[in-house]
Formats: sequence, structure tokens, C-alpha cells
Amino acid sequence: MSLRSVTILGSTGSIGVNTLDVVARHPDRFRVFALSACSRIEELALQCEKFRPRFAALPDALPAEILRKRLKASGCETEVLSGDNALSDIAAHVNTDVVMAAIVGAAGLSSSLAAARAGKTVLLANKEALVMAGGIFMNAVRDNGATLLPIDSEHNAIFQSLPRHFAAGLSNVGVRKIILTASGGPFRTRPVSELHSVTPDQACNHPNWVMERKISVDSATMMNKGLEVIEAHWLFNAPADMIEVVLHPQSIVHSMVEYLDGSVIAQLGNPDMRTPIAYGLGFPDRIDAGVGALDLAKAGNLEFVAMDTARFPCVRLAYDALRLGGTAPAVLNAANEVAVDAFLNGTLGFTDIPHVIEDVLGSTTIATATTLADILDADTGARHAARERMTSFSLQRTAAT
Ligand code: NAD
Ligand code: MG
Repeated sequence: MSLRSVTILGSTGSIGVNTLDVVARHPDRFRVFALSACSRIEELALQCEKFRPRFAALPDALPAEILRKRLKASGCETEVLSGDNALSDIAAHVNTDVVMAAIVGAAGLSSSLAAARAGKTVLLANKEALVMAGGIFMNAVRDNGATLLPIDSEHNAIFQSLPRHFAAGLSNVGVRKIILTASGGPFRTRPVSELHSVTPDQACNHPNWVMERKISVDSATMMNKGLEVIEAHWLFNAPADMIEVVLHPQSIVHSMVEYLDGSVIAQLGNPDMRTPIAYGLGFPDRIDAGVGALDLAKAGNLEFVAMDTARFPCVRLAYDALRLGGTAPAVLNAANEVAVDAFLNGTLGFTDIPHVIEDVLGSTTIATATTLADILDADTGARHAARERMTSFSLQRTAAT
């Protein structure tokens, strides 16, 4: 078996750490070629010492210099790169085969795209790359012969439940619809009238998955599911009305595909991201992920509940953006990132998050998304509009107190 050379973009994050956990179980299959992060330098240093990659890349020069000195002191020969192109350079490097794209947010777009343009096997966790620039990204995959494997657990489940030749078109392979499951997050049953006063810590207390704060808030508002609807659209070439969301509080069924003959094929497992990560790393083989066996008898009931858009308006907003097309999903994503950041900093209420996004979507001129510059312009404009909108929210809140 030939060793596959793996680059991990965002190696200190939750997905990055889980990827290294799976890689470490298979020294006969994988070697780490490059790692990247933007903070947690000591953690990155320890990863370099353990996995001995050829490169470590950081966007900023100062933390890169700290890491360089730190590694020199310990005799680790990993070369430290920094600067605007450092992440894209390791993603597209001729000596890497597999790129795990696991940077969070819009910041992951250009390096994920660089991997696709270089024809790599791209394990895509960074859903924002598809939300913002799905058309451009999918064209890059197709035109450069890249292999795209979804790591988001729902999309990985759908990928596993579709026939291999699904690119022929979902209707041509007998698919009626794609069913994304959603846990409903920590506020699934909390009275809607109480949601305006929930705190960041309450929003980050997810019942089934351990995640960082941004994606945890996205799970609580269910914008995460909204982004995943857009992600599914691009990955599987599925129109909005072929994608359905159903609440499934146990997070055991990770998503499903319904066929014309009435069959529904699902992928099940314990909620542990190492399963989709191992699927992507091993593809087309199955490899050990370190995940325990699913005990269905112990799990007991598996519930499914209809989606409530009055409770979770962010899902409706994401469908709206998908139907609007062009730069609308990038606007949605940028406004959401700014609003979530403000909520986490205590300057915006939880239920104001969808208000900010809706206002920004409604007041922005949606353009066609032909080039990356179109997307980045839309992203910048939406961030600016969201900040302005939030200023008026905080003024209103101050006036009301
Ligand atoms: P995280 O916040 O734990 O880690 C993010 C990583 O990206 C870190 O290594 C960080 O250093 C790096 N990073 C952050 N900002 C950066 C920047 N500006 N430039 C360069 N690097 C930067 O995030 P995560 O939970 O691992 O999620 C990563 C991606 O995977 C996200 O797009 C998320 O939506 C997706 N995802 C995560 C999960 C999960 O369970 N955590 C599940 C499905 C999909
Ligand atoms: Mg997911």
C-alpha cells in the first residue's frame, strides 16, 4: 500500500484534531505532509513534534516566528511558512495527495479552492466554501479532476447513501429527495418566548456534539442546517425543493436519501466526526476510525419531528438565499458570521441574529457570482451592512433599557 500524503488546513480545530487522531491509527496508510492553524501555537508545535510534517503554515508572520523559534529549540525540522499564500501553497503542493479543508468560516475558502484547482482529493469540512462559492468550487473540482469527499456528517451520510454515479443527475438515478437530519440543538423544546434572553454559554451547550463556539451557535439557531441545505445543493446538484430538513434529536441517523420506489437509505452511527473523517481518508476502503459500535438497543427510541421554521427562521433564510442564487448565499454567510460573533461577544441578542441576516439580505443587491472577486466583494459588503444594522439594534436596545 502506498503512503498517502495528507495536508490538514485547520489542524488545531475540532475537525483537525480528529483527523490527526484517525491518521495516527494508520501509520501504514498516511503521513502528514503539512499542517496549518492561525492560533494555538503551542498545540500546533506539539502536533509538528508528533507528526513531523514537512511544512506548518500560518497566515500571520508573528505567530509563525514564534512557532519557528519554538520548533528550532526542540530540534523539529518542520519548515514554517506564513503570508497570504502560505495556506494555498501547502494545499496545492505537488507532494500532497489529500487535503483536509477544516478551517472555519469564510477564511477557509481560498485554500480549499486552491486544493480543488490543483486536482487534489479534497476532504471538505469547510462548508462555507460551498455556501459562498459553490458554483466556482464545483467547476474547479470538475475542470481539474479533483475528488471531492464531503466530511460534514450529513453530507457524508448522503454520499454514502447515493449510488456512485449520482453525478449523472439525482432524477436519473431514481432519487426523489435528500433528507437532512438536524438535532435541533439545545433550544429545540425551549419556549420560543424565552429565546431572546439565552446566553452564549447556553447556546454552546449542544446536546450531542462537542464543537467550537461559532458552529455551536449555528446549531442553536439552526443556521448550520441552513448552510448545509446550500452545501447539499452544490455537492449533489439538488434543487432546493428536493432537499428536506427533519429534526432527529438523537443524531444517530446522520441523513437519508429517498428513492422513487419508496426506499429510504440512511447512514447511522454514533455522533463522532471521526467516522466521516475516516470514510474520507480511507475512500474507497473502510478503515478503523476509533469509534465504538452503535448499540441500537441502548439508543432506544429514534425520534423524527417536523422542522419548525417559526422557531428556527435561519433555515427559511438559507432556503431564500439558495433560491435567490448568485451572491445571496455569500451575503447570508457573511451576515451570519458577523451576527454570531456579536452574539458571542454579548452585543447582540440571540433572536436578533436572524433579524440582522434578513435585513442584510433584503437590503443588498444580489449579483451573479462568476468570479471569486464577485464573492469576496459580496462578503465584504455584507459584513459592513451587518455591522451597520447591528449598531441600530444596540441603539434600540439601549433606548429600551
Ligand atoms: P474550529 O474552530 O475548531 O477550528 C478551526 C481551525 O481553523 C483551527 O485550526 C483554526 O486555527 C483555523 N482557523 C480559524 N480561522 C482561521 C483563519 N482566519 N485563517 C487560517 N486558519 C484559521 O472549527 P471546526 O469545528 O473544526 O470546524 C471546521 C469546519 O468544519 C467548519 O467549516 C465547520 O462548519 C465544519 N464542520 C465542523 C464539524 C464539527 O463537528 N466540529 C462538523 C461538520 C462540519
Ligand atoms: Mg453537519
